[in-house]
Amino acid sequence: MRLEGLNHITAITGDAPRNVDFYTGVLGLRLVTKTVNQDDPTVYHLFYADEQGSAGADLTFFEYPGAARGQVGVGCAYRVLSRVGSPDSLAFWADRLAEHGVAVEQGSNEVRFADPEGLEHELIVEDVPDEPLRAEHPDIPPEHALLGFAGVRAYSMRPQASRALAVDVLGALGEETLELRGERRGATITFDPAPPGRLVQGAGSIHHIAWGTTVAEHPLWHEHVNAAGVRSTPIIDRHFFHSIYFREPGGVLYEIADDGPGFAHDVPIAELGRQVVLPPWLEPRRAEIEARLTPLPDPRAGWPAGGSGG
Ligand code: ZN
Repeated sequence: MRLEGLNHITAITGDAPRNVDFYTGVLGLRLVTKTVNQDDPTVYHLFYADEQGSAGADLTFFEYPGAARGQVGVGCAYRVLSRVGSPDSLAFWADRLAEHGVAVEQGSNEVRFADPEGLEHELIVEDVPDEPLRAEHPDIPPEHALLGFAGVRAYSMRPQASRALAVDVLGALGEETLELRGERRGATITFDPAPPGRLVQGAGSIHHIAWGTTVAEHPLWHEHVNAAGVRSTPIIDRHFFHSIYFREPGGVLYEIADDGPGFAHDVPIAELGRQVVLPPWLEPRRAEIEARLTPLPDPRAGWPAGGSGG
């Protein structure tokens, strides 16, 4: 059994409207689902991804309206690495981000920046066989679009133990940078020396990272990690996928998620992200839930007709 890289990454926002504006308007991702945090249905869980809402490109945010900025520290993933197609794409993004007032650091094979709440991103060019996972955006040529996750960087309180779990239990390969690669996709995790200061989860923090597997293998991963002495949650039905969670020895919250049934389970691909989607057990509370959510515009409402056929 091999994990299929990162299924999704979940972070925290204190400002859902600005978050939507940045991830759809500036980065050109598609808002594929507006749902609620199943553990606290008064707030959003927003999912951005490629055009189809594919595993491997899902960046998701729990909304805590008005949440203070978090602080990175030991025991968290702190940077999202995404792939782009070429060095020209890095130049495109350096220019585009600067035009939108985003501070950019450009290296030889990467562009680094942070979202409006301080969540770190890095765009890199990588020679990998993974299917490119693109969203459409009228101002972003398809050849420069983000193509899905390349990996994360994390701060571990026990880097040796973190690497051992990734290698011995999750099947990662590598030394400093560890790769989890399955038949279709792969992604890396790198454990860096932690900065001084205590981890404070808040706006701009990564809450957890989810490694991907298939529907068929998901229950086997639950058995496998628990047999290896890792105490995980039971299998949880997240409506769009199934999940188990556990904290790795360095403090980073891991999830293993499968890739079904996905976001097109409830709505046609062309309609993704327009309406609040609720799992069936919350549907009876829709009126009450929607009344408490921050209204969000359809990010594609102003697009030229026919531009987003899906
Ligand atoms: Zn998750």
